[in-house]
Amino acid sequence: MKTDIDSHEASAGSRQSLRPPCRLAIVVPCYNEEEAFPLTNDSLLTLLSMMAERGLTSRDSRVVYVDDGSRDATWRLMEAAVSRSPEVAALRLACNAGHQNALMAGMALVDDCGFDAVVTVDADLQDDISVIPDMVEAWRAGADVVYGVRRRRDSDSWFKRVSASAFYRLLHSLGVATVGNHSDFRLLGRRALSRLLQYGERNLYLRGIMPLLGGRQVCVAYDRKPRSAGKTKYPFGKMLNFAIDGITSFTVRPVRMISIVGIIFVAVALGVFIYTMIRHFQGETIEGWTSLMLSIWFCSGILLMALGVIGEYVGKIYTESKHRPRYVVDGVAGLESFNGQESLDSVAHPQPAEKDWESRGEKSPLHHA
Ligand code: UDP
Ligand code: MG
Repeated sequence: MKTDIDSHEASAGSRQSLRPPCRLAIVVPCYNEEEAFPLTNDSLLTLLSMMAERGLTSRDSRVVYVDDGSRDATWRLMEAAVSRSPEVAALRLACNAGHQNALMAGMALVDDCGFDAVVTVDADLQDDISVIPDMVEAWRAGADVVYGVRRRRDSDSWFKRVSASAFYRLLHSLGVATVGNHSDFRLLGRRALSRLLQYGERNLYLRGIMPLLGGRQVCVAYDRKPRSAGKTKYPFGKMLNFAIDGITSFTVRPVRMISIVGIIFVAVALGVFIYTMIRHFQGETIEGWTSLMLSIWFCSGILLMALGVIGEYVGKIYTESKHRPRYVVDGVAGLESFNGQESLDSVAHPQPAEKDWESRGEKSPLHHA
């Protein structure tokens, strides 16, 4: 599948009637980010007030932190930030649910509270938040999804650059559409967000879902910077799991490829059988220990590989069939300034109960005029 994404600059010329200032929520997943948090919070709050002054966003825009089960002082810092500024809210997950699930938790909350758009950004300010106003402008000009796309990957290590580009090439060759050089720095309008929340899968790979959401999708370019403070929360093992999720959540081609290899092997085995029978009847079957050993090892390797790939999918069926909640909310802070007590209650149910107001054709009771 191919993704056709306009750049925001290219589409800016066609802007006719702008949407009104955006009631924006900036969702920031944080896992053990005590070093990075203070600077991030200050920078985001400064940005919010700057955007409100420029008339891009409304004054009731918010920064929503999601503490993904941190074991350091992150949650305490969040609570302090909430008590200092009414623009800040925080959500605490009971345990480490992973980056993608933390993003989902924040976005589900934003959806319940009736924001116009949500921007997701990492806590380490590697993504250049100064392009968020461009994202909002693109939204005001009619975009539903605005991708932050890196111009270069200079700030990444050599290993990360090479492995990431090999991974994205592999994904594309397997037919999974993703936007190149895009991580999870993006804006989603309300419509795109509610579509995203319909995806009930537990093995989340948000980058793969985005192109499937449709609507008007544009991108803005930015330069990725080094981490502002602290260490990466994506060590090699987590990165590998993420990559495996990216492939196996979107395509069954690896299983098909194994089947094709299996068919080729059966065909080769048939040829080998005919050859050995001829040799046998010619009375020349004494040697061959080496080739026998090689075949045993090679075939066992292929079989194990096939079992591994199939096991990956069986594992996914297993986790999906359990229908566990994606995350369990442990506590909330600072949401009173959103919509009152009702929104607090809704946060306690990560899988929203059936919205009976929808079936009556009414607006959500949490909807903000
Ligand atoms: N993160 C998270 N849960 C995790 C791992 C990471 O919420 O289990 C957050 C982390 O705090 C950061 C973002 O996800 O805000 C991206 O992580 P990081 O910057 O460490 O990844 P990298 O940029 O090194 O790939
Ligand atoms: Mg980072």
